[in-house]
Amino acid sequence: METTRPMLTVTDHNRSFCAMTYVYPVVSRRAGGVSVGINLNPNNACNWHCAYCQVPDLVRGASPEIDMDTLEAELRGFLDELLHGRFMEERVPPEARVIRDIAFSGNGEPTSARAFEEIVARVLAARDAAGLAEVPVRVITNGSLIDRDYVQAALALLAAGGGEVWFKFDAGTAADIARINGVDIDPRTHARRLARCAALCPTWVQTCLFRWDGELPSAEQLTHYLQILDYALACAREDGGRLPRGVLLYGVARPSLQPEAIHLKPLTPEELESLADVVRTGLKQQGLTVTASP
Ligand code: SF4
Repeated sequence: METTRPMLTVTDHNRSFCAMTYVYPVVSRRAGGVSVGINLNPNNACNWHCAYCQVPDLVRGASPEIDMDTLEAELRGFLDELLHGRFMEERVPPEARVIRDIAFSGNGEPTSARAFEEIVARVLAARDAAGLAEVPVRVITNGSLIDRDYVQAALALLAAGGGEVWFKFDAGTAADIARINGVDIDPRTHARRLARCAALCPTWVQTCLFRWDGELPSAEQLTHYLQILDYALACAREDGGRLPRGVLLYGVARPSLQPEAIHLKPLTPEELESLADVVRTGLKQQGLTVTASP
């Protein structure tokens, strides 16, 4: 029955909502409307293992081979439904009946799809064909594969199509990255990847904040984080001069589905805002916008 169909809410991120393989709708608190999600990891595989990750049955790995015709058909069909069908009216609360973005944000690292360049090209073409050229296409990435040629080519296409990248950057030391992101990476390597990404495409730094075993991020951890961001900005000035646009701080509003969830506790809005002030002060000279969303 129509009336028993669920309305999308900010907590409804169920990828199987529409029974499509790659495309799913989300009402996103961060995007402020309907976000058309593209999941290139239906296998729940990521090369990272973040403590706060909400992917169920997360495994280490890469995207499987993507059936691009299916992906394109799903996207074209769903955009058409949003524009001309009854989906908005029946499934979306009135205040959210606007398409905010098309986002590569699935159950793993999207840039691990080998055909990522062609996928980005097809998604941009489908968006434009629907008359939605003003809707931004976003890539939400952990940034670990930016050095690959096909990823750089895809990001250049994305930039030409008015898109942007949200680049995960949670910590400033190898130990903190290992604890939070479950991966062994030199933070300076990650910073250089951020600079490369910003040179290729408009880029936002995305940082998740929380209490760990009851403790707020320490002053020392924040100092390391700001120092490594400073280094990334210095690298960006050398690498074409395009800086990241700003920093998006966010909390763990939805529960982690990883065993590490036992360590995590959300910050209060006041705690998040006070950490945002520390980051703002630390980046004041750099001209970066810092926003916080609990
Ligand atoms: S990078 Fe994203 S998908 Fe991968 S483990 Fe972290 S939060 Fe999950």
